Amino acid sequence: MLIDSHCHINFSAYKNDAQAVIGRALASDTWLINIGSQYSTSVRTIKIAENYHQGVYAVVGLHPIHLVDDITESVVIDGQKQGITTKREEFDYDKYKALAKSSTKVVGLGETGLDYFYFNEAVDTEAHKKIQRKVFTDFIKLGQELNLPLVIHARGSKNDHYGVYDDVLEILRATGVFFGVAHCFGGNLRQAQEFIKLGFYIGFTGLVTFKSQAEEVQSIVKELPLDKILIETDAPFLSPEPYRGQRNEPAYVKLVAQKVAELKNLPISEVSDATFNNAKNLFKF
Ligand SMILES: [Zn+2]
Repeated sequence: MLIDSHCHINFSAYKNDAQAVIGRALASDTWLINIGSQYSTSVRTIKIAENYHQGVYAVVGLHPIHLVDDITESVVIDGQKQGITTKREEFDYDKYKALAKSSTKVVGLGETGLDYFYFNEAVDTEAHKKIQRKVFTDFIKLGQELNLPLVIHARGSKNDHYGVYDDVLEILRATGVFFGVAHCFGGNLRQAQEFIKLGFYIGFTGLVTFKSQAEEVQSIVKELPLDKILIETDAPFLSPEPYRGQRNEPAYVKLVAQKVAELKNLPISEVSDATFNNAKNLFKF
């Protein structure tokens, strides 16, 4: 068994074929967890999960990039590029609490965390950081109240990839809540080890399969203990080789497992079983 511990089949990129995409994953013994990025996509992830007896689960959250400005993303639907605009959302603790409690398919909270990637001269970075920290801290409290693990997103600014991970670690230490995963890990080895020391899992995507600029993440995979690693696609983004540049899907998580196995010199079955059990331990599905 495999599990894609982080994907977004609740996003508009799968508007017309979500069922087929999930069907392909389940048919290849791959379970999946759909992650919300705002209220509407969090509602959709629950609706999707409720259509399946087992193997499809939901995590509800509000991604830091949706906290301050409206965002227009270019999405390919049925081979056509479309601009999709997402409205800025204010975090409402009680609304998310009610949503998280509304279904037994909800196994975690997220995405939540910090994102500095969009910062530029036009952005009041201190004000944005303050809002992101406040909402992240509120999600940590909610996780504590509902006993749900956190799916943490962190992305550095264009010229500092690592500082954001230290900020996340500092906020986590201050709260004393150590139950979750640092998804799509892009920090350094020291930071990965600190997350693990606090009790977190580290999530790796198709980035580990890339032929260029993957040396650091590959060396981190080699160093970390297998019982602290989760694998994920982050679909529709970050398709692994040889599908790089195309729309991603959960069935491709096998290619991430294969690469982790190769890097750690282990049989793929061992990596599949371990990462499946790690996800089960964390999300309790
Ligand atoms: Zn994601």
